[in-house]
This record gives sequence, structure tokens and C-alpha cells, in this order.
Amino acid sequence: MTENAANARRGILIILSSPSGAGKSTLAKRLMKWDPTMQFSVSATTRAPRDGEEHGREYYFHSRESFQAMVDNNEMLEHAQVFDNFYGSPKAPVVEALQAGHDVLFDIDWQGGQQVRNSIRAEDVVSIFVLPPSIAELERRLYGRKQDSEEVIKGRMERSKDEISHWAEYDYVLVNTDVDRAEEEIRAIVMAERLRRSRQTGLMDHVRNLNAEFEERE
Ligand code: ADP
Ligand code: 5GP
Repeated sequence: MTENAANARRGILIILSSPSGAGKSTLAKRLMKWDPTMQFSVSATTRAPRDGEEHGREYYFHSRESFQAMVDNNEMLEHAQVFDNFYGSPKAPVVEALQAGHDVLFDIDWQGGQQVRNSIRAEDVVSIFVLPPSIAELERRLYGRKQDSEEVIKGRMERSKDEISHWAEYDYVLVNTDVDRAEEEIRAIVMAERLRRSRQTGLMDHVRNLNAEFEERE
């Protein structure tokens, strides 16, 4: 995606939340593939890596002590306890990406969503909540992912009611029944949000150039 004066714009913070297993990591990965200029906010966490997860790609894996040190040093944009672990979004990469006019995608829970909305200009944040088609399907997806023990899955299922209760705090809500359809819906949201007049900082210059062209023709 090339940036020129006409399509220069402010970066957007896109928050994706859902109960665990509804598909937000899958959708986030697809979105990053669709637009590689988008930056994924790699969270720090105290939970253990799952098979196939890499430090610095899915998460920065930390001990409780080093996680707490990051919080104490004010290095987190937001942080929260989710299940039995701590999760947080490092601030510096987000600030850098926004300054460069890039969008940043967050896969965070409702607590993180609230904190981001309260710490960043509200106009720069777009939030999307992903619902599962049913609770039975949510459970099937958690088991089907084959990444967590039965005990962990039970804990996630118990917490999903609480996560879902925050759906109405989000700008957009979609039901992830068919993953291709859900991806298309998120792309549509991102495309429309990028075209908001208030975000397109280069429009004044572009229209000025169009007017100059009119004058040249007169
Ligand atoms: P979350 O990040 O919300 O915890 P994941 O993206 O890890 O959820 O998805 C949980 C499981 O469900 C994964 O195995 C994923 O491949 C699968 N999944 C995601 N979306 C769908 C869908 N629309 N239909 C069927 N399975 C899905
Ligand atoms: P998981 O352990 O399945 O990767 O993530 C568990 C939950 O923690 C998900 O709801 C996910 O969105 C949330 N989460 C991941 N990173 C962060 C973060 O940096 N901050 C907050 N508040 N939640 C996060």
C-alpha cells in the first residue's frame, strides 16, 4: 500500500476481543496477511508458550518478576490479569507505529480494551468484538485447537460468559460462524474506518491541488 499526499492518514488502533476460542487469533493472522503494513501488537505474558508459539511473534514470554518490572517502569499501554496469568501491551512499538501512520492490531481482552480506549485519543481506536455462533461451538473450538488441558479449557469456558457480557462496549460486533465471511467483515470495517474524513490528513492538500488544476484549465 503506497502512501502519498492524497492518502496520508492517521494510524488506527484496532482492538479485537472475544471469549477465548471464538477465533480472534485466527482472524488477526489473516488480517496481517491481507495487509502486511498493519502491525500486530505483540503482548507480553506470564503464561507458558503453546506448541508452535515463538517469543516475539505470538507473545513475549516473561516471568512474573520481569512482567511486573515492565509495569512498574510504565512500559505498558495496558495490562490485566486474564485467567491465572498476566498479559499486557508494550507501549513503545505502538507509539512508533502510530507516528509512522501505521495501524496497530491488538488481540486483547475487555479489560485491555477499556484501558486502551481510556489512554489513547478515542478517535484513534476502533474496537471489534467477535462472538461465537454458540457456546457448544466455542467449546468444540477450544478442544479442537488441541493446545490446552481439559482444566485450562474449563477455566476458559467459565470466563467466557464474563467476556461476552462486554460485547456492547465495542464499536463493531460480528459472529464468527464462517471464518472467510468473518475475515471479509473485518476487512470491510478496516477499509471504511481508514476512509473516515477525519483520518485522512492529506485530503486538504489533494483538494487544493484539484482546485489548482481547475484554475489552470480556465
Ligand atoms: P481465540 O484466539 O479467540 O482464542 P483461535 O483463533 O485460536 O481463538 O481459534 C480457536 C480454534 O477455532 C482454532 O483451532 C481455529 O482454527 C478454530 N476456528 C476459528 N474460527 C473458526 C470458524 N469460523 N469455524 C471453525 N473453526 C474456527
Ligand atoms: P491466550 O492465552 O489464549 O493467548 O489469551 C488469553 C486472553 O488474553 C485472550 O482473551 C487475549 O485476547 C487476552 N490477551 C492477550 N494479550 C493481552 C494483552 O496484552 N492485554 C490484555 N488485556 N489481554 C490480552
